[in-house]
Amino acid sequence: MIKEQISVFDIFKIGIGPSSSHTLGAWRAAQQFTASLKENNFLADVEMIKILLYGSLAKTGKGHGTDVAILLGLTGADPVTFDVDAVTPTFEAIKKDKKLSLAGDLVIDFDYTNDLLFLFAESLPFHPNAVTFQAFLKNGKAFSETYYSIGGGFVVKEGEDSSQKVQVDLPFPVEKAKELLHWCLSTGLKVSEIVMENELAWRPESVTKAGILQHFAVMRDCTYRGCHTTGFLPGGLDVARRAFPLNKRLIGKSDYHDYNSWIEAIRKGGNGFNYTLDWVSCFALAVNEENASFGRVVTAPTNGAAGVIPAVLQYFITFCDGYSDDKIIQFITCASEIGSIFKKGATISAAMGGCQAEIGVSSAMAAAALTECLGGSQRQVLMAAEIAMEHHLGLTCDPIGGLVQIPCIERNTMGAIKAITASQLALQSNPDKAKVSLDAVVNTMWETALDMNAKYKETSDGGLATNIPISLPEC
Ligand code: SF4
Repeated sequence: MIKEQISVFDIFKIGIGPSSSHTLGAWRAAQQFTASLKENNFLADVEMIKILLYGSLAKTGKGHGTDVAILLGLTGADPVTFDVDAVTPTFEAIKKDKKLSLAGDLVIDFDYTNDLLFLFAESLPFHPNAVTFQAFLKNGKAFSETYYSIGGGFVVKEGEDSSQKVQVDLPFPVEKAKELLHWCLSTGLKVSEIVMENELAWRPESVTKAGILQHFAVMRDCTYRGCHTTGFLPGGLDVARRAFPLNKRLIGKSDYHDYNSWIEAIRKGGNGFNYTLDWVSCFALAVNEENASFGRVVTAPTNGAAGVIPAVLQYFITFCDGYSDDKIIQFITCASEIGSIFKKGATISAAMGGCQAEIGVSSAMAAAALTECLGGSQRQVLMAAEIAMEHHLGLTCDPIGGLVQIPCIERNTMGAIKAITASQLALQSNPDKAKVSLDAVVNTMWETALDMNAKYKETSDGGLATNIPISLPEC
């Protein structure tokens, strides 16, 4: 059986909020479908498009922006580069004008109400996040493809043979944490160094490093923007942004004009417990408020959990010693390996495993990365990841109104704080005496995911989503 090969740029992806599976993955699926139309020379003959959303994509698709993402993807827009301020106006224009520019090449009639169907009661067996695209051609024939958005922006086309994917020769193949530990102990390399050696199979080291710093720049800008944007989040829940007032209160009268001077100003406030705790929360709130507003974020490893890793990284940059570009690269590469182990051994999809698969995994990734950057041993790095996940096991996904806002935004603050606590615990512990291994917790998470009631898996059919009475305006 072909083993899955996951690069740092599969786990960390630049995109647009609010959801990696329901927005970024759906967007990618729409782009792939238009590429298929082109490859098969059907594009010029398309008269009508119909889109069928199944399972979780139907149930929480409106709140998660699946409709927006799919229509923009069909126009040929790319989530990495598309102007985030143009997302909502472009979507509204398609709905109002009833015209869709397919792949930017062919303008067809498109009726949002009749051509984009939310099949709330239907689900496909392979994965809860399914979308079928149907193109009806001038000659009376139809061309159809089904895609599954399997979490973290990863997309699988129905019938696609994974063995056809280009495989590379990785010097240190890793499926489980015990294999990672074996490579670390037999070579003396850190987790991040093992990752960097593997990344060489895909591209030169300089390209990998530049790409990671580009991803960090998106995280940094997102955090700064979120701390300096006021108002309410879209979607109708009337959730007020909290990073802005928290930043204002914490920073006081300090003078700053950009990210670097802002960080300097924060450092001058010292590192008292409440002050540090408030800043970590502020960083996480900022990213996820941007995510909820169709802002540009880095999927890490999902969008709902996009604030945990930037918050812990900002904590390291601001409140710990030794920050440099190399440390940022170390942090992100180490985190990516932990995310990859969870994806291979369990899931990073909330529709498969609830919120433990999102916030839990991001917290484990951040805990491991922080531990390595603070000088922990390889065993302590894995122990930190294990501790962080152990205390997220069973966490359900129950977003109110299907929006990635409540409990999602606050939950990122919790994931970040738990990551820091897990790292501290690991750094103060002897991992040889640990009773629970990272592999055991990955396995436990997967078993818990299998046992979890479907209503707690990104459907908004249970939990907070059904206990908090709200009425949202029809989108
Ligand atoms: S509850 Fe957790 S898993 Fe569900 S949408 Fe929110 S952040 Fe994602």
